[in-house]
Amino acid sequence: MHYLDASFIKTKIQADRLKLADELKILFSKRAAKHDEEATFPFDNFDNLKEYGFTHLTVPKKYGGKELSLYEFLQIQERIAQGDAATALSLGWHLGIIMNLRETNKWPQGLFEKVCKEIITENKLINSAATEPRSGSPARGGKPETTAELINNRWVLNGKKTYASLAPALDYFIITATIIESGSVAEFLVSKGAEGLKIEETWDTLGMRATRSDDLILTNVTVEKEALIGTREKAGKPKPQGWLLHIPACYVGVAMAARNEAIQFSKDYQPNSANHPICEFPEVQQKIALMEIELMTTRQFMYSTAERWDQANKEERERMGTDLAAVKYVATNSSVKVVDLAMRIVGAHSLSKSSPMQRYYRDVRAGLHNPPADEMTLKVLAKRALGS
Ligand SMILES: Cc1cc2nc3c(=O)[nH]c(=O)nc-3n(C[C@H](O)[C@H](O)[C@H](O)COP(=O)(O)OP(=O)(O)OC[C@H]3O[C@@H](n4cnc5c(N)ncnc54)[C@H](O)[C@@H]3O)c2cc1C
Repeated sequence: MHYLDASFIKTKIQADRLKLADELKILFSKRAAKHDEEATFPFDNFDNLKEYGFTHLTVPKKYGGKELSLYEFLQIQERIAQGDAATALSLGWHLGIIMNLRETNKWPQGLFEKVCKEIITENKLINSAATEPRSGSPARGGKPETTAELINNRWVLNGKKTYASLAPALDYFIITATIIESGSVAEFLVSKGAEGLKIEETWDTLGMRATRSDDLILTNVTVEKEALIGTREKAGKPKPQGWLLHIPACYVGVAMAARNEAIQFSKDYQPNSANHPICEFPEVQQKIALMEIELMTTRQFMYSTAERWDQANKEERERMGTDLAAVKYVATNSSVKVVDLAMRIVGAHSLSKSSPMQRYYRDVRAGLHNPPADEMTLKVLAKRALGS
């Protein structure tokens, strides 16, 4: 067992599951450069995830899943991200949404059971498409301009979504829309293949290219009345969401991969100006130590917060929003730092297209723009400290 993991792996079941995750990590790392280069969705990785039952992990046991805790979910995310961050982030949305539904009972019981059973028996995938061109990050409270209208007892949806990760692989899309009649914001469950639902392949980004977070165009998409699965008003004030820690776990995985790559490089590389590998230079050792400090503190904070979440009751969870946001802030910023240090160790080789380091550099940047945004987190931290 890696010494950095020694205190985090607590049970044999976790250790056995992580061995499987390691197999997937190795497989995915071999495919990552090609999917990144071509910006293709990693269907092959998802075939393997399905084969290993990894798309079932957060489904409740009563519906055939493994009902992973948040802590265990993050272990998987971190490990898969070391192989391919885009695969991990995509998997995280799917597993996280199911975990959140399991914990909140937000959906009608029958519908949740049906979707869970389809995940188990048909390997279906789900994600939420909430961002829009003009709403910006939905976490900032922007209202969807996608509309929903009840016509002849069926909902008719029209609008455009951006950043819909896993778009080409999804079986279910959770679509946010504003109900024209009431002005309420609601969520609708839309199946792949629904008439009028089109994926526009716009995703051509610096990093996380294989997530295929494409646009969705909804033109008179008509769904049953029961497809409305919740309204913002009914849900009340947004509640803290532990499952969103899959985001920091993913970027910590990228940082771990960069750290491992840099350490190996420092042991192997010996320029002819030196009579030893570069790992023996104090300047290089200092950078290695700085990476260790970043990763040790970040992972301790992330896993201890996840454990607190798992052990907390409903009231305690409602007080954890600021801490969850702080974990995301610390983990994503610290992961950017680790990748930077790793690249300084490797030097100009890290810029080569054949080096995975340049992909880590591009992928890790995306974490800064997943929710919640840093300035929101700093605001709530200051408010809490000031007692307001
Ligand atoms: C790899 C990746 C995958 C994603 N997957 C999904 C997905 O599956 N589903 C989904 O719905 N979304 C997804 N998203 C979208 C994501 O959740 C954000 O909505 C999106 O990245 C836009 O965030 P933003 O902070 O740039 O937004 P914007 O709100 O457009 O903000 C842009 C900038 O404006 C400034 N700004 C805006 N508002 C304020 C404010 N109130 N105060 C101060 N400054 C402000 C900030 O400087 C900010 O950086 C994904 C994003 C990425 C990068």
